Amino acid sequence: MASEPAVELTAVRKEYGKTMALDGISFAVEPSEFFTLVGPSGCGKTTTLRLVGGFEQPTSGTVQFGGRDVSGLPPEDRDVGVVFQNYALFPHMTVSENIAYGLNFSEPPGDVTDEERVSELLELVDLAGMEDRDPAALSGGQKQRVAMARALAPGPEILLLDEPMSALDAQLRERLRITIREIQQELGITTIYVTHDQEEALAISDRVAVVNDGGIEQIGTPEQIYDEPKTEFVAEFIGDNNVFTGVITALDETVTVDLGEETVDVAPADTLDEPTVGDRMRFCVRPEDFVVGQERNSIRAHVESAEFLGDRTRVHLSWGGTELLALTDEPLDGEVSLGFEPADAHIISQY
Ligand code: ATP
Repeated sequence: MASEPAVELTAVRKEYGKTMALDGISFAVEPSEFFTLVGPSGCGKTTTLRLVGGFEQPTSGTVQFGGRDVSGLPPEDRDVGVVFQNYALFPHMTVSENIAYGLNFSEPPGDVTDEERVSELLELVDLAGMEDRDPAALSGGQKQRVAMARALAPGPEILLLDEPMSALDAQLRERLRITIREIQQELGITTIYVTHDQEEALAISDRVAVVNDGGIEQIGTPEQIYDEPKTEFVAEFIGDNNVFTGVITALDETVTVDLGEETVDVAPADTLDEPTVGDRMRFCVRPEDFVVGQERNSIRAHVESAEFLGDRTRVHLSWGGTELLALTDEPLDGEVSLGFEPADAHIISQY
């Protein structure tokens, strides 16, 4: 029999007075999985994490750990470790004392003393030698590693991380996310991670849930989320994208779409309803999938401006009244044709 999900939310709603924070969300996290909730500010990510941690209770719906209903259990009875955005270290305690605080309410896992456990954790988060420092004498990244060690001290089944890197600069975030991923894999601990940073979500996760306005838009591997967005929100929130609307004029191996001035072919999507000639539809093409200068299967657009990124140039174009983005190796100007392969165009809706 397949194992039960480590964490499963079923039809969870959360209302704060008249505010609907979560509108009946469901998802399952597998044991040892790194699962990320990503979405814009106010979409309900933190609320979801707090419900998993037991800091909030759902208005309706259930939260299960390993098939066991934990709705109603307080955080201390849930076997979760939590790391919040703002370190939350005790300033008057040393690094070791902060980590040992995580053992105040439970025994260390395995047959070790508290001191031995703290040493193990200092090694794990690569802070050996810094045990006697005050938190004030640590960098932001080191503080977050202490916070992570403290959360991991009792050997929880589940690790919850709420924007743990939001206070750090971009370079440090990139380094720390590699560390977090390595620690997660070394321990094999089921992890739920919250971020508003889509690049971070793609880089760090086994699977990603894109959250918008109290609901889940799509759950999938980073590749699925990036390559096969199922909704317009996902297409536009995850990475740059160009969205087109047109009318289906022919169906063959590809779907032919009239965009007004131009007609192009896109690959059919097996996940949508059978397309019909005359239906309107939307599809998207990534900036890196445009082939500048290709006349076949192309649209004509006007270059407005360009940003030199070092390895590539990001070109802003206008097509009718619509803004488009393309990535090229060389600067462009004037009128250009932007071609693309039908298979690189992803249908996101038809109506
Ligand atoms: P952010 O990235 O800004 O932290 P988020 O996606 O984590 O956003 P939540 O904090 O989960 O979003 O909030 C979801 C919605 O619920 C928001 O509209 C928020 O204002 C509301 N909300 C959250 N907590 C409370 C509360 N304690 N009382 C009232 N409303 C709340």
